[in-house]
Amino acid sequence: MCMNLRRFCSCGRNSAYLSCRDNLLPAEILVNLFCPECRPGRIRDDAMLPDCGWVLEYDVDRAQAYFSARGIRSRATPAFIFDAGYLSWQGLAPGDQEVNTRLHQRLAPLIEQDLALYLKSLRSEWVAHVARLKAAGWRKAQAT
Ligand SMILES: [Zn+2]
Repeated sequence: MCMNLRRFCSCGRNSAYLSCRDNLLPAEILVNLFCPECRPGRIRDDAMLPDCGWVLEYDVDRAQAYFSARGIRSRATPAFIFDAGYLSWQGLAPGDQEVNTRLHQRLAPLIEQDLALYLKSLRSEWVAHVARLKAAGWRKAQAT
């Protein structure tokens, strides 16, 4: 199980929230998580996926075994594991969970004053956030 999993990066200075589609892959398939401060100098394309300075390193051989056992025919590449959501950011980027929580907290006083405005603000601020992620080049945001 790795629903809503929070994982610290290699250097421990940053963390990311991850999600696992269908709980198919155990969290250990993500062998290493690197933030922009501890990312390796060289990206191994066969095992790593870079995303805006962060790097996810997977055990692709073990992932392949899980995919084969579950009848998933795609090859277990880092790109497939990430893009198909089998072990990927929760939301669109590592900090999305906190951004979302802060946004809800900040707008909460509006709930009693003007619910319609609250919902409208929530929506428009989130859309603006996603647009910023997209402009910054975050991989999952490109697909939105
Ligand atoms: Zn780090």
